[in-house]
This record gives sequence, C-alpha cells and structure tokens, in this order.
Amino acid sequence: MRELPKTYDPKAVEQRIYDMWLEGGYFHAERDPAKKPFTIVIPPPNVTGQLHLGHAFDETIQDVLARYKRMQGYSTLWLPGTDHAGIATQIKVEEKLRGEGKTRFDLGRDKFLDEVWAWKDQFGSRILKQLRTLGCSCDWDRLRFTMDDVCAKAVREVFVSLYEKKLIYKGKRIINWCPKCTTALSDAEVEYIEKPGSLWHIRYPLSDGSGDVVVATTRPETMLGDTGVAVNPADERYRDLVGKTCILPLVNKEIPIVADEYVDMAFGTGCVKMTPCHDPNDFEVGLRHDLDQVLILDGEARIINGGKYNGMDRYDARKAIVADLEAGGYLVGIEDHLHNVGTCYRCHSDVEPLASDQWFVKMKPLAEEAIRVVEDGTIRFVPDRFSKTYLNWMNSVRDWCISRQLWWGHQIPAWYCSDCGHTTVSREDAVVCEKCGSSHITRDPDVLDTWFSSALWPFSTLGWPEKTEDLAYFYPTDVLVTGYDIIFFWVARMIFSGMEHMKREPFRTVLIHGLIRDPQGKKMSKSAGNGVDPIEMIDRFGADALRFNIITGNSPGNDMRFYVERCEAMRNFANKIWNAARFVMMNLTIGQNGLPDKLELEDKWILSKLNTLSKEVCDNLDHYELGVAAQKIYDFIWDSYCDWYIELTKPRLTGADPESSVNAQKVLLYVLTETLKLLHPFMPFITEEIYQALPHEGDALMIQSYPAFAPSLDYPEDEANFEAVMTAVKAVRSRRAEMNVPPSRRPHLIIVTSRGGVFRGGEAYLKKLAFAGEISVTDAAPEGTENMVSVVTDDAVMYMPMAELVDLDKERERINRELDKNRKLLEGQNKKLANESFVARAPAAVVAVERDKADKLVTLIANLEETLKTLG
Ligand SMILES: [Zn+2]
Ligand SMILES: [Zn+2]
Repeated sequence: MRELPKTYDPKAVEQRIYDMWLEGGYFHAERDPAKKPFTIVIPPPNVTGQLHLGHAFDETIQDVLARYKRMQGYSTLWLPGTDHAGIATQIKVEEKLRGEGKTRFDLGRDKFLDEVWAWKDQFGSRILKQLRTLGCSCDWDRLRFTMDDVCAKAVREVFVSLYEKKLIYKGKRIINWCPKCTTALSDAEVEYIEKPGSLWHIRYPLSDGSGDVVVATTRPETMLGDTGVAVNPADERYRDLVGKTCILPLVNKEIPIVADEYVDMAFGTGCVKMTPCHDPNDFEVGLRHDLDQVLILDGEARIINGGKYNGMDRYDARKAIVADLEAGGYLVGIEDHLHNVGTCYRCHSDVEPLASDQWFVKMKPLAEEAIRVVEDGTIRFVPDRFSKTYLNWMNSVRDWCISRQLWWGHQIPAWYCSDCGHTTVSREDAVVCEKCGSSHITRDPDVLDTWFSSALWPFSTLGWPEKTEDLAYFYPTDVLVTGYDIIFFWVARMIFSGMEHMKREPFRTVLIHGLIRDPQGKKMSKSAGNGVDPIEMIDRFGADALRFNIITGNSPGNDMRFYVERCEAMRNFANKIWNAARFVMMNLTIGQNGLPDKLELEDKWILSKLNTLSKEVCDNLDHYELGVAAQKIYDFIWDSYCDWYIELTKPRLTGADPESSVNAQKVLLYVLTETLKLLHPFMPFITEEIYQALPHEGDALMIQSYPAFAPSLDYPEDEANFEAVMTAVKAVRSRRAEMNVPPSRRPHLIIVTSRGGVFRGGEAYLKKLAFAGEISVTDAAPEGTENMVSVVTDDAVMYMPMAELVDLDKERERINRELDKNRKLLEGQNKKLANESFVARAPAAVVAVERDKADKLVTLIANLEETLKTLG
C-alpha cells in the first residue's frame, strides 16, 4: 500500500494518471459481440482552435457519459476528431500573410493551401492535447479530421450521389453574401438584428409624362439595379399604369411597370421597385416577368454597373444617391424605420442578398425523413422543447447553399467543359469531359460549406462509404451532446444526412446544453474581456475541480453562469475526499476490501444510504441529470461519510475492542471505494489516484463496475431510524450553538416521541454527539417546560432544563445588556426615519435599507425579551 502525500496536488497526479490509462489501453473500444456498444462522436472542434469553456462544458458532459457507460460494461467508443473549419482557419492564415504584406492571391491556390496545412500541423494538435488535460477518455486510435482521406471520400461520395439523384444542383439564386468574408453564406449563417434605419420614398416619373409612381426602400443604392416597378393586379389605383414604363432617376433608364400578386397593396404606396439581383422576392418576380438582371455590387460591396457611382462603397453610394435624388427633386420623403438586417454570424458585417451562381442541396425531399424521425420519437431531444425548435426549422427549410468562395476546404468535384459546356461531376478527379471527351475542362474553384463534411460525421468517421465492421457495430451512435446554438447548422444536417445515406438515424438522443456565461449573465467573449480560460482553471484548481464545477452548475438546455470561486470550492471538495482517504488509510490494519459479518446501526445506515445513492445516481445519469447526480454524490461524501460516519467510527478505531475496530475499517474502506467509483466519471483523476493507493482488486478504477443497487445492502428501516436520531442530534447541536453552550455542559435530555424504541436505540449517539447527560424517552410532555429549552424535529420534541445549559444569573445579565444596546440602536434608527427631510431626499433604496434595519432590531428585541422570560 502506497501512502498518500499530505495534500492533493493535481499537477503531480493528472498527467501520470492519464498516461497510466493510455498505457492500459482503456480508452480503446473493441468491437465485442458479447457487449452492447455505446457510441458518442465528439462535436469536432476547429482544428486550429483553442479549448474554451464552451468546449470544456461539452466535453466534460461527454466524458461523464462515456466513463459511466464504460463502467457499466458497454463497449464504449468516444470518437474524437477535429474540423477543418473553412472560413475560420482560412481567415487566420490570411491574417498571418497580411502581416507579411501578402494576400492569398499573391501565393496562388496551391501555395496558399500548403501554408494552411502547415498552420494545421503547427496548431492542430493543441486542442487535442487540451482535451487530454481535461481528462477526456477518447479513443485516440480512431482520431479523425474532416479533411482526412476517409472523410474526404465520404464527402465526395455524398456530393456525387446527391447530384445523381438531382438533390444537388447549381443555379443562380439570391444568396446571402458577406462582403468582409467575401463568400456566400447559408441561411443558417445569417443572424438577423433589429437596427434603426430609414425608409426613403422616391418618385419615378412615367415615361409618357402623365405623372409618376412613388416607391419606398430601405436600401436606396439598390435603385441602380432596378429593372421594373410592380403593382398588385387587383389594385384599382394603378390598373391603367400596368404595361406602361417609367424612368429610373439618376440612371435615366426606361423600366416596365408590371402586375404581380406578390405585391402587398396595403404596404406603402402599393408600388414596389424591383431589383432582381439583390432581393429574393424581386428575383422571383423578375423571372415571372422576364425583367433584366443588373448586379450592382461586387464581392466587397462596391458599386458596379452604376455609372458615376462605380467603385464607391455601398454606404458611401447610399449617401451620394440620396443627395442626388434630393437635388433632382425625386426624394418625396424620409421616415425613421426599424428593420431586420441580416448580419454575418462570423464577422457581423451586414450581409448583402445578391444573385449569384452557387451550388445548392435541394432540401424539401431530404427534410421529410428528418422530420419523421423526430416526430415519431426515433430521435429524442433532451430537453424535449428543442424538438419544436428543430421541427419548425425543418418544416420551412429552404435549399442549402453549399458553395463557398474559399480555398480551404473540400473543393467541389465539378469540371466545366469549355468546348461543349457540359458539367462533369465525378467520384474520381476528371481529366476529360464525360460528354464530348475534350480535355479542355476546368474544375470549379469553390469549396463546400464546412458543415457539409461535419453533417456526415457520425458515419464518415466510422469508415463510410466502405462497409466497415466499426460502422456495423457502432452506428447509430447513442448520444450527441451539443449546444443549442448549432441545432440548425449541424444537428439538423446530420439527421437528414444519416437518414439519406445510412437509412438510419445518426443518434438516438440529442442532449442539448446551454451556453456558459459570466457571473453577470453576459456571454463570454474575447472582446468583452470576460472570458475564462479553462486551462488556467485546471492549472490553478485541477481538472477535477473544473469538471465538477461545470457539471454541478448545469441542467440540460439551460445556460449556466461560471464562477471562478466555485472552482475553488470544488478543489476544497477534492481536498475533503483526499483527507478522508488519508484518514481511512492511516487507520487501516486490514489489507483487503470486504464487508464484515456483524454490522452496527451506523454501518447499516451508511451502507443503506450508499445503496440508495447508487440507485439514484444511475437513474439520474440515465435521464441525463448529471448535475443532480453529482450534487447527491457531493452531499453524501461531505455530510454522510466525512462529517458523520467517520466521526462515528473514531471511537471504535481507537477503542479497546479489536473486532469492532476491524469491522469499522472494513465498512470505511468499502464505502470509500464504492464512493470513488460513483464519483469517478465526474472527477476521474483524484478518484483513480486514491483507488490506486487503497487495497483494491483489478488494475484501474476506470474499468471497474459502476455501483448499482444491491438488495442485500438495503436496510430501509435501520436507515430511517438512524436518520431520526441524527436529525435530533443536529437539531440539539444547532440550538446549543445558538446559545453558545460549551460541550462540557451535559444537560438532561427529555425526548417526547411516539417512536420511543427508535430513540432509546439511539441513546448512545445522543449522549456522544448531542452532549446529553441523562436521557429520558417518554410519550407525554414533562412538567415545568416553561423553564426549559425546547427543540422540535419531525418525530420528537426535546426539552433541556435552561438552568443546566447556562448560568442563569450571568445569562440574564448578558441579555439585559444586549437589550439595552439594541433598544438604543432602535431609538436612533427611529429618529432617523422620523426625519422628514432624510426620508424625502434620500434615494428610496437607502430609505428601505434603514427601515429594514429598524424592523430587524424590533424582532431581535422581541426575541431577547422572550428568552429573558424563559430564564425565569
Ligand atoms: Zn463575414
Ligand atoms: Zn465537353
């Protein structure tokens, strides 16, 4: 048996324990037909990212579940990996190049990609190391990367097969364009924010000089791209105008007036300007009426095809155009207007809707199965309310724009023939046009949305499209753990991808957690400077403390506030366990773990409590109530085991009866060992370290069986009886503490109860722990209770003669002094509150505080007067 050092030092332990687990191969999942599989795929963090608290939250939950299931005998696979994170990684490398005065275009595509791979090699293992620091029990033999060969093959297969099924197409559509990231975005990547703006009313003169129409817009610069004006066909006011033309001011171009039911007669003037290249609705109207398409913005949102405004930034152009409209007498009016502006989720620039040739996934047919499996409960969201969020989105899902104007990512496998115009989409890199055989083909330069590859993660990581044994054994996965912020980006897309390509749901349960916020409830961010670095927390308090803080502060689906002080409290908890283990070890003369034949009441009590705890913890974990489970273990260790049971055994350990001492040791060791098992998934390092030092069987704690309810250790009656006595002890103790009674005073304790047997059986405990002298157990109230202190619990009223607790004269004197002091204070307080100018001038909150002080004094004085009476 190894001795534990005096204090627990996580730094000296964690790395060594993790290496021991690695060497034992305990993280590796074997396909074992005799066992049930349990699979979690990690939400792949960005390959060049750093661990932040959000990750720590996510990964700790997964590690708790993985360790729990592994100990329950499942063949548990927690599959790790990283995401290439298209935009995020490319931006980082571009920033680095900018520092060297270069752009990606200076290098060209191939050299630039070399740079990104080098960057990935340099920083790609950082986050994986950090996951190890946190204690994650991932199967590192199965590490994947969204751009490795296995995943790339899956991406290629999915793209080509969807294209063959006509579920992927290329088309000109209005997409969301970020002028800062210079790429298309999917709908899910646009965040709508309400911003104050203006509504400009502009007059367009009719070509025949017979009058004008007035249109309204929040983006006046888009008028440069107007190619028509639309009215509702049912609108009497404009019936005569349909078919006529008007003159587009500043541009001086004749544009048609068309009738289309899309126009809302009640909105504004009922005349709507049509800008097909910059508005999704106008685009559709334009197609119906064959309107011209004029694109007026380039990729960085500067004006093109706009005459004298060419080259101007969109907002400068807006100012210039409004000024020119006003000068030309075209501006009819300006109103303040609050509108929803789409912004880029990554850089927060205003997004421009613009017409562009892009690749899309046709969503309606794919959504059907994705809706069914959530509606019929094949896939369950925890908490359930998020299934509604998911279904709302899936029911109104639009086609998914999957092409991105980036270089880092999976390049689209489409080749365009310059001879016949055919597009070749192929599983192998094409060298000739599949239609005419020409070698004059060029590959589409764009890459796929990063989420296109992460959508395949639950099966691409297991080797799909090959029919691997891993896939057969570990798919579908069991639980997906993720934040509510990526339900649309990721969860939804994994579900329809799994249903389409595997014909099976990718996971059975989606466990949704909230975000971690600062103590004020604000979102943590680098720019706000309120972020907390999890690695720093681990350095200061140990990985176990960080993990336990995260888990106990959390309930599914809800945001949590992160308090550094709670990490400190959890480190204190770790120390408490450490000290308890050291105490047990120092008193151990036995070399083996096993329960004694003869059990005292307190032994039955702690064993029965442990048994109940095991049952409840499993039940909580099965229902994903990790925080509740952790809190119960915490309370058991701190209160029941350390504060009560250890104290109760001390006299036995040092007493004259060797059998009683050995029996106490056996129960102490047994309960400690089982408790370490229960706690292991939450605090893996310290529990393993202690386990290794205790007499134990088997190699590592992490592969021992998780405690479960054992009928042979169920003593509900003894447990309840002992609890009743303990409650009485606690109540007497706290009353004595209130009255400052030293332990040397041992008064007569009269217990009035209908459960006489229970309290008679507990007399020894009451004498020892409640410092009672003589004890009388009775079912009728004694005489003279007016001079006694009473203490009440659920099943007993206890009396102690006042004179035996305190020195009556001294006590009367003390209370009278207290009364004098407090009466004076109250007088002063009342004077203050009677002062009208104070009450009138001081802030209401200050006055309330003063009132409160006075109220408290009144209560205190009443209590003191009451006590004085009982002293006689
Ligand atoms: Zn952006
Ligand atoms: Zn061709």
